Amino acid sequence: MRLSRYFLPVLKENPSEAQIASHRLMLRAGMIKQQQAGIYSWLPLGYKVLRRIEQIVHEEQIRAGHIPVLMPTMQSAELWQESGRYDAYGPEMLRIKDRHGRDMLYGPTNEEMITDIFRAHVESYKSLPMTLYQIQWKFRDEVRPRFGVMRGREFFMKDGYSFDLTREDALHAYNRHMVSYLRTYERMGLTAIPMRADSGPIGGDNTHEFLVLAPTGESEVFYDSNVTDLTLGDREVDYDNREEVEAICKEFTTLYARTDETHDEAIFNEVPEERRKSARGIEVGQIFYFGTKYSESMGAVVQTPDGSKVPVEMGSHGIGVSRLVGALIEANHDDKGIIWPEGVTPFHVGIVNLKQGDAACDSACDALYAALVKAGLDPLYDDRNERAGAKFATMDLIGLPWRITVGPRGLAANKVELTSRRSGESEEMSAEAAVAKII
Ligand code: ATP
Ligand code: MG
Ligand code: MG
Ligand code: MG
Repeated sequence: MRLSRYFLPVLKENPSEAQIASHRLMLRAGMIKQQQAGIYSWLPLGYKVLRRIEQIVHEEQIRAGHIPVLMPTMQSAELWQESGRYDAYGPEMLRIKDRHGRDMLYGPTNEEMITDIFRAHVESYKSLPMTLYQIQWKFRDEVRPRFGVMRGREFFMKDGYSFDLTREDALHAYNRHMVSYLRTYERMGLTAIPMRADSGPIGGDNTHEFLVLAPTGESEVFYDSNVTDLTLGDREVDYDNREEVEAICKEFTTLYARTDETHDEAIFNEVPEERRKSARGIEVGQIFYFGTKYSESMGAVVQTPDGSKVPVEMGSHGIGVSRLVGALIEANHDDKGIIWPEGVTPFHVGIVNLKQGDAACDSACDALYAALVKAGLDPLYDDRNERAGAKFATMDLIGLPWRITVGPRGLAANKVELTSRRSGESEEMSAEAAVAKII
């Protein structure tokens, strides 16, 4: 992409409404535009990042054996009356009447609708296990929408629903989700710690939230500092192997890590003092095993091998796809701007032409651009007639991992400059060497 033909409405001034770095930087980098409180348009740069995150979520869900579907954002009140949540849900639910006076709502989550799909088509245990998921917009009329896309009213969420015959099978689905989430966050360059969360009236150790540590997080968390060292790395996982998947979950959930809702001072005090940490965290996902709560109230039953009928065991599992854009920036920025991890960056590399209009510089940039594309990369070429300082500032703000600077002095020696956004280090080398280093 040539910047002169792109739409990147960067702001010079810090927007006054933004209280935290990610919100400020998303506005300044021209990633989003607020349309109403908690409702945003995604401008080209922001949209690219959102799509990359969505793609990683899809790939990891499919790897775990889960099946993508797409449900409507609009739901009928009747479904929610069946489960009893229409009244229970409260003012976070946006309720709408259509022209015939029928009660509808903009879905804040989809347990009812997925249960309705399931009961219409699945009758036997032979169809199980099954996990259906979607990545779709949700609406929750939050009392205090804030921090940009981190707490929006309309937001993009992956919500998955597991259906199993037995409790053990359902717990395997739960574990499968935990491992697939760990891999998902890791691919984004993010450390998200599974923490025991509050399961409400159902009780038991059947829900975990995934938290990214950040001073601006809305949750208070307590953990053993050794949990931050755990990584999945690139070990192969066989998602059908219960013992293997369970062992990974154990590895990641044995050390103390809880949100304030389940925090227990007595147990926490058993952690060696120097490893006892309390901090703030951003909730980027949650997994939940709830059994037959919806299948019973909505009549989603399956036939067992002995011919009897039982309500299906369910769980629901969410990832905050749009919130992740903010969380990633909270975890990756400096005073000049964003620093994208390679896994989610909107463009792989930026090209800065120091002397636009100079025949040698222009053709070197064009050749470099072509070589990067040929290598399978997506470059952003700043071909505007701007001062070098302004071009550098834009590149630093939008945070591409690499910058290649092309100028007359370097070209005389057949060199360009390759700069890492994260380390700030620059190195002179041939254009070919720069391309090779980035791939
Ligand atoms: P929170 O505690 O932040 O209100 P939640 O527990 O109500 O979130 P869930 O129902 O668990 O949210 O939804 C799954 C995921 O969707 C959350 O882990 C979070 O990452 C994301 N999410 C929830 N509410 C919002 C929101 N208002 N804006 C953006 N993302 C959200
Ligand atoms: Mg909430
Ligand atoms: Mg929560
Ligand atoms: Mg939650």
